[in-house]
Amino acid sequence: MTINFILGACWASFFNLVIQRHLRNESILLPASHCDNCHHRLAWYDLIPIVSFLILHGRCRYCHAQINTLILQTELLLGVGFALIIPNITSNYQILILILFAYLAIWDCHTQTIPSWPLGVWLGLCLWILPWQLNYLKLLPIYLLVTSLNHLSSFIGSGDIDILFLIWLTSGPLFTIWVLFLACVLSLVYLLLVPRLYFNHRIAFVPFLFCGYALTTNFTAQLLTFTIP
Ligand SMILES: [Zn+2]
Repeated sequence: MTINFILGACWASFFNLVIQRHLRNESILLPASHCDNCHHRLAWYDLIPIVSFLILHGRCRYCHAQINTLILQTELLLGVGFALIIPNITSNYQILILILFAYLAIWDCHTQTIPSWPLGVWLGLCLWILPWQLNYLKLLPIYLLVTSLNHLSSFIGSGDIDILFLIWLTSGPLFTIWVLFLACVLSLVYLLLVPRLYFNHRIAFVPFLFCGYALTTNFTAQLLTFTIP
């Protein structure tokens, strides 16, 4: 579990770098990791996920500028998520879906939007790996109905609906309902703990879906047994 936590934190650190540099139209490789404020090149011991942030009290070692707490939050998110999900993975395609989902969660944290290409890859994986069943066709009108209703009232981001339907395709309806329920509970708890967010009216929801997915994956036996007597 510890190794999976470290693995998740390292993936988060890598995704943060890739996404931040992509948003600034910078190369992923060059220049080397540096402070955004003083541009001092960072040593390896400044780049250890979670540990460096805690040791430096969330500040740059050289200019003492505050480091974005999103970095720590996302490293903890993927650390816990990977620790819960990886022991329950039984096939390679689930690893790919985990990585795509993690990337979507961190992208949403940074931009409150969702890129379409990981959704397309996830859908392609589902159609390629999972056996084609007529049940999947039933999802299409439900998906179109929910998307249309949401377009009118905007109760949730359209990308969040896409992800929920991809989870449905991957793991079934009951699993998806638990993911959505846990994501809603966790986001409410988060809003209560960080009340200033009430004034912004928008939070990134994919990280909460990712938490719900991790918990449901880890406690599948208990949750699904609880639902179906
Ligand atoms: Zn600095």
